[in-house]
Amino acid sequence: MIPAVYTPKYQVDIGPHVFPTEKYPLIYERLSSEGIITKERVYAPKIPDKNELTRIVEPEYLDDLLNTRPTACTLSSEMPVNQGIIEAQLLCCGGTYLASQLALKDGCCYHIGGGFHHAFPSHAEGFCFLNDIVYAGVKLLEQGIERIAVVDCDLHQGNGTAKFFEHEPRVFTFSIHQEHLYPIKEKSDLDIGLENGTGDDEYLELLDSALNRIFKEFNPQFIIYVAGADPYIYDQLGSLRLSIKGLKRRDELVIGPAIEHKIPLIVVLGGGYAVDLNDTVEIHCNTARVMDTKRCS
Ligand SMILES: [Zn+2]
Repeated sequence: MIPAVYTPKYQVDIGPHVFPTEKYPLIYERLSSEGIITKERVYAPKIPDKNELTRIVEPEYLDDLLNTRPTACTLSSEMPVNQGIIEAQLLCCGGTYLASQLALKDGCCYHIGGGFHHAFPSHAEGFCFLNDIVYAGVKLLEQGIERIAVVDCDLHQGNGTAKFFEHEPRVFTFSIHQEHLYPIKEKSDLDIGLENGTGDDEYLELLDSALNRIFKEFNPQFIIYVAGADPYIYDQLGSLRLSIKGLKRRDELVIGPAIEHKIPLIVVLGGGYAVDLNDTVEIHCNTARVMDTKRCS
């Protein structure tokens, strides 16, 4: 059993859209039915105070968000600008932070949400209004955590996160992603841009050696793992060719050593657009199953 963060408010009606917000309750239900999460240890997030959010978002843009205003800063997203989705992403900031606090106590935490890594302080991008990874990172730094590694294994580069922490030596940003694809790339501390068609073996080999380097050279005190389900072979947005088994092995490579070395770790979900929603849910559930098997708490 692992601690988790979740609220039903993460499922939002955004009309016909490739982003399946219904994945969140489906993951919650599947993991609950398997006993990997239980009600007593699933914690509900809160929206952070406005003054807390101004640490990661410029005041004018925050004002647009809080008033659901369609402006250049909000309309730059590929989401409808509606109150439900903005509230969900505000909650995700609180949620990823809450997960980080639980991980400091219990070793790890699985956030059934978050991973909105394309959001910038001045504007929305992709499906992201607010960068929950950045929010939790900034708060952890304030708490005195000195070396935070963001391990971003989503299909897409974590451009918003990379840009925000570009000149912050206490946060190591690592992104392994499909190179010839959205977004316009920013500079992470370590980027691995993969060719279209990259499959399990090559991916896992490159990831393994990058992680070895990060653990050895940066020696993180905290890990934020963006466990996107979209490097999957049957994803609608990408051209990587990872199998469900390969993605589970990916989870083991990230989570295993973290737990072994007692480095607190949180998972945020990121993207996942498989042709069959059930596959996306299964890939995300596997990440929680790996955490549970490694017995982080
Ligand atoms: Zn993605």
